[in-house]
Amino acid sequence: MNDPSDVLIVGGGPAGMMAGYLLARAGVRVTVLEKHADFFRDFRGDTVHPSTMQVLEELGLLAEFLKRPHHRIDRAALTWNGRQMIIGDLSHLNMAAPFIAMMPQWDFLDFLREQGAKLPGFSLRMSAPVSGFIEEAGRIAGVRLGDGSELRAHLTIACDGRTSLARAMLPLESLGAPIDVFWFAVPKQGQGHELRGVVSGPQLIVMIDRGDYWQCAFVIAKGGAEAIEARGIAAFRAAILAAAPELTGLETVLPDWNKVSLLSVSLDRLTQWSRPGLLAIGDAAHAMSPVGGIGINLAIQDAVATANALAAALARGEPVDALLAKVQARRWLPTRLVQGAQRAMHERVLRPLLQADLANPKQPPLAVRLFNRFALLRRIPGYLIGHGIRMEHVRSPRTDG
Ligand SMILES: Cc1cc2nc3c(=O)[nH]c(=O)nc-3n(C[C@H](O)[C@H](O)[C@H](O)COP(=O)(O)OP(=O)(O)OC[C@H]3O[C@@H](n4cnc5c(N)ncnc54)[C@H](O)[C@@H]3O)c2cc1C
Repeated sequence: MNDPSDVLIVGGGPAGMMAGYLLARAGVRVTVLEKHADFFRDFRGDTVHPSTMQVLEELGLLAEFLKRPHHRIDRAALTWNGRQMIIGDLSHLNMAAPFIAMMPQWDFLDFLREQGAKLPGFSLRMSAPVSGFIEEAGRIAGVRLGDGSELRAHLTIACDGRTSLARAMLPLESLGAPIDVFWFAVPKQGQGHELRGVVSGPQLIVMIDRGDYWQCAFVIAKGGAEAIEARGIAAFRAAILAAAPELTGLETVLPDWNKVSLLSVSLDRLTQWSRPGLLAIGDAAHAMSPVGGIGINLAIQDAVATANALAAALARGEPVDALLAKVQARRWLPTRLVQGAQRAMHERVLRPLLQADLANPKQPPLAVRLFNRFALLRRIPGYLIGHGIRMEHVRSPRTDG
């Protein structure tokens, strides 16, 4: 059995790895439990935003982080039925890194693992699936692992994403999402690094630059995957090519459906993020839509707020149950505003687009036209995506020397 003064973190995603790092930095003994053997999964998104890099700068890690291979993107482009548009600009942000660093998420998590390993209190256990919580006298006292063993903790933080075990114990509000995503990779021709959206008729493809290939998200109406698959892979390839002619060689890249993953999109949140002994943050507390590509960064912000609220008390070995609600109180407003914006995009743009129900499909939405026309206005989406609402600063102590 472990020392009951430890903190256990369920899930080694962005929220879990950053929370683990910050708490260990403050002198807390933390164990991060990750069910997979590695970080290598494609569904997680590749964007490290200025707000996350600001946190790395405050931790003195930014220069080291930027030594890892990445591409820098400071504007978002959209092709709407053949019309090229610029809809976001981050280059004017007054921040340490006024751009999005495109880096596969496994590299970002590996970087956090490397930094965590330098701290005496940090421990990461891979291939350690948590199967449930230990509950004693109404309090969560630790976790049960898949092999039946138990680990006890002063505090358990659920960072296990949108299918979190904590969701069985805390109230959940679903906001619904009208989209799902087919996800696939296509070798890239030519140079230039960007984040590109392509709208062609009722079709939307988001193309994320990963250096020598595009990671593509083909957005479909929720529940529409079976019908698309039934029409066959050749019809799917033709739909891709019609929307984005630069995606060539599809017969070789997508010979069958095995190279295409279906990702179910959800938008929801816990209305209560904690109970005695347990706190949920990141997607565990609020599953985000891929719209805006900000889920990773919100998860990081939650982790910073968690350490700010709890690290000092945890390091002193004090009870923290009474402090847990502070994390939700701090992060509730940005969560609600971001999810509200994502919901508006779902309902006002994506649902009508996918149902071929836009009043004038050739005409981009007004906001898109305004952003494209007025360079100053483009800074608004740039600010919201790059800086975010209520950006967190590292205030947790550093006691690791
Ligand atoms: C299609 C799609 C594309 C996206 N693209 C982007 C993007 O470009 N940019 C962006 O910022 N966001 C994007 N997002 C959202 C983003 O992936 C999430 O918001 C973000 O990863 C949340 O981080 P997290 O640490 O809270 O959870 P997760 O990243 O989900 O991490 C949870 C971790 O917990 C582990 N785990 C789960 N259950 C257990 C268990 N029982 N025991 C132990 N470990 C467990 C998992 O293996 C995982 O490593 C996208 C989402 C989708 C669906």
